[in-house]
Amino acid sequence: MKIIFIPLSALILIIASCSRKTVPSRVEKLKAEKQAALNNKISKSEPAKDNTNNNDSGNAIVRDSTKYVDVDYANKVYNKLAQSFADTIAMNPNFNDPSLDYTKDFVGSVNVNMRKPNYVIIHHTSQGSVDETLHTFTLERAAVSAHYVIGRDGSIHHMVNDYLRAWQAGIGKWGSVTDMNSCSVGIELDNDGYGPFTEKQINSLLKVLASLKKRFGIPQANFIGHADFAPTRKNDPNVNFPWQTLSQKGFGLWWSDTTNVQVPPDFNETQALRIIGYDIRDVGRAVIAFRRHFCAIESAQPALSPAERKVLYCLYTKYMY
Ligand SMILES: [Zn+2]
Repeated sequence: MKIIFIPLSALILIIASCSRKTVPSRVEKLKAEKQAALNNKISKSEPAKDNTNNNDSGNAIVRDSTKYVDVDYANKVYNKLAQSFADTIAMNPNFNDPSLDYTKDFVGSVNVNMRKPNYVIIHHTSQGSVDETLHTFTLERAAVSAHYVIGRDGSIHHMVNDYLRAWQAGIGKWGSVTDMNSCSVGIELDNDGYGPFTEKQINSLLKVLASLKKRFGIPQANFIGHADFAPTRKNDPNVNFPWQTLSQKGFGLWWSDTTNVQVPPDFNETQALRIIGYDIRDVGRAVIAFRRHFCAIESAQPALSPAERKVLYCLYTKYMY
């Protein structure tokens, strides 16, 4: 028998080269494509002189957030969390719950993809600046976040992957949905809580909404405000928010001309609010949220005016179909 002696270092090299994939994995390919797209976008963009630079040209807005946020720390934590979620997803699901009597062998189905958001929740930040919000959303003790933060200058900060669960909607109810964070994308608009929203901000918002609707097939009725979902706790977005404009673009339902509408005498306002989606455990708060959203009126009056009753009736007929 002939024995061929191979030095240990050569053996290690052979094993390493065998285990290395010669063809890049799908994930590596996607990463490379994403990086190339990002490099292309950055090389096209002009350096911003200040935070008021607009993004009408479609180029990336370059902002220096490092003054307000520990970006290195935040990104390190985000990436670590994302990796832990990836590890969880990749786990053999047979061992998710040891109390269940699983089969010993695992057979994974080949027909799967990622779960998608089905709602969009719109917020105002009630803060002084985007930087303040970025700071808040990178503090662990604040325990709040959103997928997107849109500045008054139209800048778009995408802070959480759309597939992940941001902490934005909290406790509330819309229809039968209670865990809204698990099925929605949250968008925060930089706003002091009272003032108007800027044109650049709304234009950027419309672009984000169009992208989400297209990618995830979100129904028109499922674009709502935080106050719609949590009327007893929240009042955002404030009364200046242009819901009618959004609806005309396909985001959220709206009512049609009520001039000749005759509301039936037995029309039940509470049931109508419930059918639209409002939590009616506190009807007065549901009325206030409805009025703010669909009548653009901020009022603590818990009863609807005749004109508002017409709007509710008209809208309710749209939600019936
Ligand atoms: Zn909110």
